Amino acid sequence: MSVLDNSKYIGSAIFKRQAFGNNHPLAFSRHSSVLELCHSLNWLPKDKFVEVSPATVDTITKFHDANYVEALKVSVAAGKVSQEVREKYNIGTMENPVFDGLFARAATTVAGSIKAAELVANGGLVFHPSGGTHHGRPDKASGFCYFNDPVFAILALLDQGLTNIVYVDVDAHHGDGVQDAFADDERVHTFSIHEEKRWPYSGAADDRGGGRSYNFPVPKHINDSEYGFILEQAILPAIKKLKPDAIVITCGADALAGDPLSSMDLSNNALWSAVLSLVSMSPRSIVFGGGGYNPWTTTRCWAGLWGKLSGQTLPDTLPENTQKLLSVFESDLVDEEDVNPLWLTSLCDKPNEGNVRDEVKQLLSVVMGER
Ligand SMILES: [Zn+2]
Repeated sequence: MSVLDNSKYIGSAIFKRQAFGNNHPLAFSRHSSVLELCHSLNWLPKDKFVEVSPATVDTITKFHDANYVEALKVSVAAGKVSQEVREKYNIGTMENPVFDGLFARAATTVAGSIKAAELVANGGLVFHPSGGTHHGRPDKASGFCYFNDPVFAILALLDQGLTNIVYVDVDAHHGDGVQDAFADDERVHTFSIHEEKRWPYSGAADDRGGGRSYNFPVPKHINDSEYGFILEQAILPAIKKLKPDAIVITCGADALAGDPLSSMDLSNNALWSAVLSLVSMSPRSIVFGGGGYNPWTTTRCWAGLWGKLSGQTLPDTLPENTQKLLSVFESDLVDEEDVNPLWLTSLCDKPNEGNVRDEVKQLLSVVMGER
């Protein structure tokens, strides 16, 4: 039986609510759009969908500082943030605004990741697209992330007695919060491919964290061929040697061509193929979403990813009712003339193949040298 036959999708009604407020890159409702697309393609039968409710404060404080969690809860309830709290915890800022329903939403994301670990305990695959808040710090918010749900998934897997976990982060931004959380834990290896010289500016090629981190800061305009090269020449062989009990993946969609917050030029085929190769390397897999700021490319990426992870065949052209869902999207960050007509009619991008640049080859020798 293939691991894909046993896949589940984690969601909650709470992710359908408006979040972050206007004028924020995450103002659009990514998760309800992905759900609608999957439903319109009949890819989400009831037995595949798992609904979760918020994690308790007791659970959240297993990783996060109790004072921070309390300050976030109080600020959300009051609808305002004191200057002291803003400065101390980095909330109530342009980057990490406090909005109605935020606490329950962030706590539900954490619950989804813990549930994901539970569901794969005896093997299997879980897709949790609202997870992937990889920048969250124990005692403060960072990069639109209030809690760090991938950390909770990994902690829950370790609590099951597993001793060999691989975390792979393909979001355009370095998976700093997860790398640092497990820097001293010999049971966890982390891999991150991200755009170089991009916020949060950590994750250089020679950054090995506590010794078990692999960072691939890639040059701008990386193409599918270069991406495949890095995976096949470095990441997949390294993971094969590790023989992980579980693999946890943050699949941000901001590494795709057309994303307004990065300059990576991947087609969604490259990301799907990376995730499918990765999940085939372990009996247990958890796949999160992450960043993704172009409503069309993000929604198509994650809906298509669920299709792939649940063994569906992706149609060449989308049925009319699905096309309609994509036609109503709007974005302040994507100019109208930059909306690729393919984004309205199909899930699959045109592959973006090209030369593998020397700097990409050199990057591999720096990251993998003397390992
Ligand atoms: Zn990102």
